[in-house]
Amino acid sequence: MTARGVAILGATGSIGTSALNVITRHPDRFRAVALTAHANGAALGELVKRHAPAFSGLSGGDGGADVLLAAATHPDADIVLNAVVGAAGLDATLAALEAGKRVALANKESLVVGGQLVLEAARRGGGTLVPVDSEHSAILQAMGAAPASSVRRLVLTASGGPFRASPAEVVRTASVQDTLRHPTWSMGRKITVDSATLANKSLEVIEAHYLFDLPWESIDVVVHPQSIVHSFVEFVDGSVVAQLGIPSMELPILYAFTHPERLADMGIPRYDPVAAGSLTFEAVRHDVFPMLAMGIAAARRGGAGAAVFNAANEVAVSHFLAGRLSFGGISDVVGETVDMLGSLAGMTRQELLDADQRARAHVEGLVPC
Ligand code: NDP
Ligand code: MG
Repeated sequence: MTARGVAILGATGSIGTSALNVITRHPDRFRAVALTAHANGAALGELVKRHAPAFSGLSGGDGGADVLLAAATHPDADIVLNAVVGAAGLDATLAALEAGKRVALANKESLVVGGQLVLEAARRGGGTLVPVDSEHSAILQAMGAAPASSVRRLVLTASGGPFRASPAEVVRTASVQDTLRHPTWSMGRKITVDSATLANKSLEVIEAHYLFDLPWESIDVVVHPQSIVHSFVEFVDGSVVAQLGIPSMELPILYAFTHPERLADMGIPRYDPVAAGSLTFEAVRHDVFPMLAMGIAAARRGGAGAAVFNAANEVAVSHFLAGRLSFGGISDVVGETVDMLGSLAGMTRQELLDADQRARAHVEGLVPC
């Protein structure tokens, strides 16, 4: 059996690094054939030395969009892992699916911004979309071969982030440093902030809506501080199936590469129920974390609602990380932007990208520089 070629978009990031760990453990099964980074040429250079891909490039400079597309459609790539951050990943997801690839999707923003376009690209090009996000990987695994019609409800778990139990006034003024201290997962900065505001969970509800073709009312969220249960599927007969594991993205990455098969891997931490101890569940505090409901409401408006929410959030998070916006200010400016622009049209790629740009400009106008 020849090793399957993997293109990794965003190879220098948290997901990219975990994916290269997985690939390194299975040289007979996988080989890195294309690697991209955005700006970190030195880190990419190291990876190129170690993995000798047929193609590599930086997406941050002139012609950056072409670098992502070349990697996403590389002839040696059987699997395309999209692990870039933000709406910038959309076109690569579309191109890889059009080219018939298996897309291991970490870049959830692709589906949030252009869910319908992504599904159409897969249908047209014959590509398959397999989630890397741990909750969606859990749902895929828990569903087994059951048809969507046998599912009553999905329950996505959320760690609750670093401020799960903090008083509302402490949360509003939380520092960047405290926000980046995630209790259970080690991830890139943008998704770590999204986990603290619960914007990440709204992006994941939207992602689940498209991936599993379920109505909004059938997707719930529960807080589970230990991050051991990665999500639940409730079937129409009342049976509930969950997928469990020690939090490590290497497992969902490996599964996205092998689904529906499994590959033995001793590098992934094993779950010991006694050592892990109690598993607890709580309701989301919507009054303290308004981003969850806000994102879902924006998506339910249809059109460019979700794209506007996503773009506003991306810009607000970057201002928060730069010290120009408070933690509470993130939901304030995103809320204002969604109220203003959330009903823009969003049928076509161009309409969605225009709405994305308008939302970014709107947030820039709201944040004092
Ligand atoms: P990181 O910030 O750690 O890495 C991002 C990667 O993408 C880097 O290689 C970076 O390059 C590159 N990149 C940054 N900006 C752009 C851009 N505008 N265009 C193209 N490439 C870019 O992020 P994560 O690995 O944490 O997350 C990646 C994606 O996976 C996100 O969509 C996130 O939501 C999703 N995800 C992540 C999880 C995790 O555990 N980390 C879990 C579930 C989903 P450079 O190094 O040069 O800046
Ligand atoms: Mg997740």
